[in-house]
Amino acid sequence: MDDLEAAALAIADAERAVAMTGAGVSTASGVPDFRSDGGLWNRYDPEAFHVGRFERDPAGFWELWLEIQDEVFADADVAPNPAHEALAGLEAAGHLDAVVTQNVDGLHQAAGSDAVIELHGTHDRVECRRCGRKSGAEGAVARARDDECPPRCDACSGVLKPASVLFGETLPESALIRAHVHAEKSDAFLVAGSSLTVEPAASLPQTAAETGATLIVVNDDPTPHDGLAACVFRDDVTDVLPRIRDAVVEGTD
Ligand SMILES: [Zn+2]
Repeated sequence: MDDLEAAALAIADAERAVAMTGAGVSTASGVPDFRSDGGLWNRYDPEAFHVGRFERDPAGFWELWLEIQDEVFADADVAPNPAHEALAGLEAAGHLDAVVTQNVDGLHQAAGSDAVIELHGTHDRVECRRCGRKSGAEGAVARARDDECPPRCDACSGVLKPASVLFGETLPESALIRAHVHAEKSDAFLVAGSSLTVEPAASLPQTAAETGATLIVVNDDPTPHDGLAACVFRDDVTDVLPRIRDAVVEGTD
């Protein structure tokens, strides 16, 4: 049996299969990897996106935020790629319980995945710093561009903040807890496009493997947990994930 067959079999036979995705799944859609060489943080000072800076100067923060939005999404055809589609297809076929993601771009949902756990929040929503109310980011971004900077909450006039996790902020606790529960209960845990160097992404595959899951890693570069994996694919996620989906879905027809 080759690695592709082994990975497909592990997912097809799993009572609960879970995927975890990182920046490598979105770079194929034209979303820059914030941390890589040449990534956005080489050109912008990460301190400018620290939550402390947001608290001190929300208007300045939003001005820079709009600039970044323009840069990241300047390419108007940012859209789900075959890797997103493969995971959505596995979920639709009943072979994937959840996607845990480090990405904040909403592309898994755009591809049709329903069970998405966003470890770092999302750019698609904003939250009120005063009353906690969440709403779609589009209206707030439009108002910020239209000179309401920083944009404010409809309900209480509190300052709105993007619902993605800023530097210096803790990760959303409910997402973390759900991700850990999924890792512990999974029988197959598929890592795609993450170098597994940033917590909690680093420890979730380890938890899964230690509690009995078959670990599958698809990433361009080696990860610290390749040694725990039953199958390691050092290939493009947009190539490997569709092949795994096809093998799972065809094999279980
Ligand atoms: Zn409010």
